[in-house]
Amino acid sequence: MPSSPIYRGRFAPSPTGPLHFGSLVAAVGSYLDAKHHHGTWLVRMEDIDTPRCVPGAADDILRTLAAFGLHGDAPVIYQSRRAAAYEQALHTLQANGAAYPCGCTRKEISDSALLGIEGAVYPGTCRHGIPAGREGRAWRVRTDRTLPCRGSVKFNDALQGRITQHLESEIGDFVVKRADGLFAYQLAVVVDDAHQGITHVVRGADLLASTPRQIYLQGLLDLPMPHYMHLPVAVNEAGEKLSKQTLASPVAATQPVKTLLRVLEFMKQEPPLELAGGDVQAMLDWAVKNWHPERLNGMRTIPA
Ligand code: GLU
Repeated sequence: MPSSPIYRGRFAPSPTGPLHFGSLVAAVGSYLDAKHHHGTWLVRMEDIDTPRCVPGAADDILRTLAAFGLHGDAPVIYQSRRAAAYEQALHTLQANGAAYPCGCTRKEISDSALLGIEGAVYPGTCRHGIPAGREGRAWRVRTDRTLPCRGSVKFNDALQGRITQHLESEIGDFVVKRADGLFAYQLAVVVDDAHQGITHVVRGADLLASTPRQIYLQGLLDLPMPHYMHLPVAVNEAGEKLSKQTLASPVAATQPVKTLLRVLEFMKQEPPLELAGGDVQAMLDWAVKNWHPERLNGMRTIPA
């Protein structure tokens, strides 16, 4: 078994509903990778987008994780309580001239924007100052700061290989503090991964396109860059990610052994069937020892 002197991993669910199969894959994958490397595994509740959070969902997710034997090695941290840290990071970006206020409405942006890989690429209207008579509503980060590799962010993902993204043309200047006063996921996740000393991020490939923004922010904030591993996303027959939006059913915590077996099969871990007769802990112990993420090399989606 490989041993690394320091490994700190995490699972960072958003409490917008109960855990579904896709998020359980990310939870189990991040846990197995951490424990296989004798590392620490943490749970962080990403309840920053308060309008999307569902009351009771955070506790429900923690109960479900516990039913699967997935216990964090330190108390859970909640993003809703960390506004001061995000404010400080925003302040650093402002002081470096990397962040600017933006007074554009969503409609104005979509009317004049080109389409990038995640919708509208901000046309840069407020980059050099807010037009007269307008007020700053959100804060954006300029994506034209000097980067190594001629404007492109490049990194090696443990499963997805070499990833290259040209931030300015493919994403555009992105929001770090929203018009409604809430901090954006991209900023919060970077501040928190550094705060928790995360060395390895293991999560779903649906977040692969966000990673270059996070690496870019780490550079601007002088924070260390973790290793990244993006697991394939569970999709339905129509190829859509299993989520609340596609009406995926929540994970039933009543049959954890059966469900965990399905999760391990989904991740091509080839669990021996006799494990089905045991308990969750025995199955997790087996999976930690026999963790082979390389079987998922290059896979972005798998039908669940
Ligand atoms: N909170 C994000 C989500 O549930 C995951 C963030 C992350 O793992 O970086 O999609």
